[in-house]
Amino acid sequence: MTTTHNLGFPRIGRQRELKFALEGHWRGEINAETLQQTAARLRARHHRIQSRLDWTPVGDFSLYDQVLDMSFLLGAVPERARQAGGSELDAYFRVARGRAAGDGDCCAGIHAGEMTKWFDTNYHYIVPELSAQTEFKLHADRLIDQIRETRAQELSFKPVLIGPLTWLWLGKTRDGSDRLELLPRLIPVYRELLQKLSDEGAHWVQIDEPALVTDLDEAWRQGYQEAYRALAGSGPRKLLTTYFGRLEDNLELACSLPVDGLHLDCTRARDEVERVIDTLPEDRILSLGVIDGRNIWKTNLSATLDFLEPLRERLGKRLWVAPSCSLLHVPVDLASETDLDDEVREWLAFAVQKLEELDTLAEALRYGRDSIQGRLQANARALAARKSSTRVHKPQVQKRLRDLADDPGRRNSPYAERSARQRERLRLPLFPTTTIGSFPQTAEIRQQRRDHREGRIDDDAYRRFIEQEIARCVAEQERLGLDVLVHGEAERNDMVEYFGEQLEGYAFTRFGWVQSYGSRCVKPPILFGDIERPQPMTVERIRHAQSLTERPMKGMLTGPVTLLNWSFVRDDQPRSETCLQLALAIREEVQELEAAGIPVIQIDEAALREGLPLRRGEWQDYLHWAIRAFRISANAVADETQIHTHMCYSEFNDIIEAIADMDADVITIETSRSQMELLDVFEAFEYPNEIGPGVYDIHSPNIPKIEEMEALMEKAAERIPPQRLWVNPDCGLKTRSWEEVLPALENMVAAAQRLRRKYRSEAA
Ligand code: GLN
Ligand code: ZN
Repeated sequence: MTTTHNLGFPRIGRQRELKFALEGHWRGEINAETLQQTAARLRARHHRIQSRLDWTPVGDFSLYDQVLDMSFLLGAVPERARQAGGSELDAYFRVARGRAAGDGDCCAGIHAGEMTKWFDTNYHYIVPELSAQTEFKLHADRLIDQIRETRAQELSFKPVLIGPLTWLWLGKTRDGSDRLELLPRLIPVYRELLQKLSDEGAHWVQIDEPALVTDLDEAWRQGYQEAYRALAGSGPRKLLTTYFGRLEDNLELACSLPVDGLHLDCTRARDEVERVIDTLPEDRILSLGVIDGRNIWKTNLSATLDFLEPLRERLGKRLWVAPSCSLLHVPVDLASETDLDDEVREWLAFAVQKLEELDTLAEALRYGRDSIQGRLQANARALAARKSSTRVHKPQVQKRLRDLADDPGRRNSPYAERSARQRERLRLPLFPTTTIGSFPQTAEIRQQRRDHREGRIDDDAYRRFIEQEIARCVAEQERLGLDVLVHGEAERNDMVEYFGEQLEGYAFTRFGWVQSYGSRCVKPPILFGDIERPQPMTVERIRHAQSLTERPMKGMLTGPVTLLNWSFVRDDQPRSETCLQLALAIREEVQELEAAGIPVIQIDEAALREGLPLRRGEWQDYLHWAIRAFRISANAVADETQIHTHMCYSEFNDIIEAIADMDADVITIETSRSQMELLDVFEAFEYPNEIGPGVYDIHSPNIPKIEEMEALMEKAAERIPPQRLWVNPDCGLKTRSWEEVLPALENMVAAAQRLRRKYRSEAA
């Protein structure tokens, strides 16, 4: 008999019930009890959906973040959260969300825990805060309560924990101490926890150790051995779960740990299965994650059975099957998508459908393929339809791609020559000022967009409204004295969706929400087919904006790598190829903007860095095709056209050469919060082109002072020649209000003027 299980289920709810309950609670409209009731209802529903599994995960639910839950369970809670008093739940949300100064009766603000990306996903977790002083103490009540809930539903349950090494690995110390040294203090708490789980009747526990798919040094590997040796024999049987990648040099380690089973992500590590079977002791369970928990395509059931059936013969009862990772990273239920185009819908599977697929696989393994013939046939039909769809495969797109084969995407002339021509054309002062693209997205703008989408106002009325917003935005920028203007992006809901909606090859869901962090969800578009751009996407508006001013207008586009990294992407061809198709579509737009007389074009690559593979060994390959795609999109323009790119983060040290290789004339980046620390990289590496290190932290409501911004730029000028520096905010202004933005930009322009006086006279 083949055993089925799941690693985790999306918690946000089919209609984002958890989001609305959380936000209602934070606004003070819903009390803690009602919030907990909503959460319990969601858990019960999710457990019912999973009831056909042999083992249903429990403890995967979280009110905010599973890593933060684990930190609370281990008693590793920052002092500042406890000191403010209140309930355990208050303390939890305080770490999750912080608390603004002046909020409630306490006068000092409490800062939220740092948030960062969960491996290579778009999910963000709260980083455990550690120091040499950190002590641990078990607080298992939350988990135990959830176990009892599941028991009351008479389900066979499997508690889910983040393993000790991965939890430490995700954490950070601020006192310079080594977090691995906390391991001996941590192990007894895990032992106690495992004992408790046994007492609650758990037969199995799932211990997530995805850090095993990353590059680990010897100390961490030893940590694994030590920890699992110390935990051996205590608690339920242990299923060590790895996901998001291959084990590679950690394979022997993972197979040698004294646990009862190992889970492998077969969407990414399928070629390691043989080696794992050879290495894993024969009394161990091998769980194979054969259904992709990171994407939304139907599984090829018969191909998966071709793979699984021989393994079932060899492994017998030792074989378990599951999704590759927690289903947290896919939307809940395709059945909610009543508007989705019928053809595309047939190709998809969300969390609920993925569990049905798992069930089908298990039946076939147990009773033979004949027992589920109808389902297998339906699956084969859907896959065949996708494979032969003319909306997926377009010969003309593939031809264009082939024609590009040897094109490295280089500009006509090197930067020095281009820069001279651009200076002549644009006539910008020293320290030119600009913004990143968006201006405040007021409630009115959002309302108008909604009214237009839902048919309450017609295209003409909407266009007039947007033009009026553009006019206001241009007038304000002229009044402020900015040098390179933008149109303000009032028409854009989202920098990916806006372009995806206008490209062929993309589909959109209505409820395809995926948790990004806490109550925040994103709805990634679905890139299903060859990409074509049927008509210009931005040209009319940008041309209109340029017609309103004598100053240079900057056209604003999202880059191919970002479009790719923030979508669910087709799995029937390499991502690099899909990215190049996107690049071609953006390139056409760039060329039309240029032909329309737009002198400056910015191509945002906000998600370039986050596409980096987990293993360093794979970075070069990714950077190679990603940077080339950017160059293809950007570099088919004349020397006089100035290309900008923007990235809203500041960790460049390890990829600076690739960034320089993009050869954008100007790059704007986030730096103000790190006090220009990022520019340290420019001591060793001479960045060749122009750069705008952000001086206005747009994440904060604070209005930066003239002197502060001036000082930041002076720091920058120590490392980069002033002739190549721009003055701009860290990122787009859409989340801020006009009341904040106007004085901040006024100060920014004033700072630039002071800098000009200072450096001009120095040069003289
Ligand atoms: N041009 C976009 C804006 O200004 C850039 C957003 C981003 O980098 N995330 O909003
Ligand atoms: Zn940004």
